[in-house]
Amino acid sequence: MLDYAEPVTKLIDEFKRLPGIGHKSAQRLAFHVLKAPQEETDRLIEAIREVKEKIVFCSTCNNLTDVDPCRYCSGHSRDRSVICVVEEPYNLVAIEKTREYHGLYHVLHGALSPIRGIGPEELRIKNLLERLRPNESGESSVKEIILATNPNTEGEATANYLARLLKPLGFRITRIAMGLPVGSDLEYADEVTMHKALANRHEI
Ligand SMILES: [Zn+2]
Repeated sequence: MLDYAEPVTKLIDEFKRLPGIGHKSAQRLAFHVLKAPQEETDRLIEAIREVKEKIVFCSTCNNLTDVDPCRYCSGHSRDRSVICVVEEPYNLVAIEKTREYHGLYHVLHGALSPIRGIGPEELRIKNLLERLRPNESGESSVKEIILATNPNTEGEATANYLARLLKPLGFRITRIAMGLPVGSDLEYADEVTMHKALANRHEI
C-alpha cells in the first residue's frame, strides 16, 4: 500500500493518540479535516489553543476551570458542609446535571489501580486533606464526604481507601447507591439514575 503524503500521515498519527481512536477512525478524522472548509478547521485549531491557554485546574478542588478558584468553590449558594469526591471532571458534570446537588466537589483525576501502577500518590488526595483541616476553633466546615467514584473495581477500591482514611477524622462518609450498573462509568449515567444514586447514598 502506498503511504499518504507525510503531513496526512502525521495528522493520522496525532489522532491515533486520542483515547478510543483506532487507525480507521484516525484516518476518517484526518480525511474529514482535509475536506472541511478552512473556517471549520480554523475554529477547531482555535478551540484547542484556547482550552490549552485558558483552562487550568482549580487549586482547591482540581476541577477544570478558567477562573481559580472555580465557580463551584467560590459560589456563595453552594453548601460548604458537603464535598462530593469524583474521579474525573466529566463525572462532576454528570452530577451537576441532576440539579439536586448543591455542595462542593473534589476531583481526584483518576482511581486507584495497582495494575496500571496508580497508587494514592498519583491521585489528588493531598489537597482534599488540606480542605478538611479544622479551623482555629478546631472544627471543619465539612460534615459529609460523598464518595462518588465509579461503580467498578477501581472506583470501589478508591472509595474504600478514602473511607478508611477519612472516617477516623470524624466525617460522615457516604457512598452513592449502586442503582448504577456495576462496572460502569458515571459518565454514561443518565440524570434520573444519577439523581437516585445520590439520593439513596448510604453511610459507610
Ligand atoms: Zn474548585
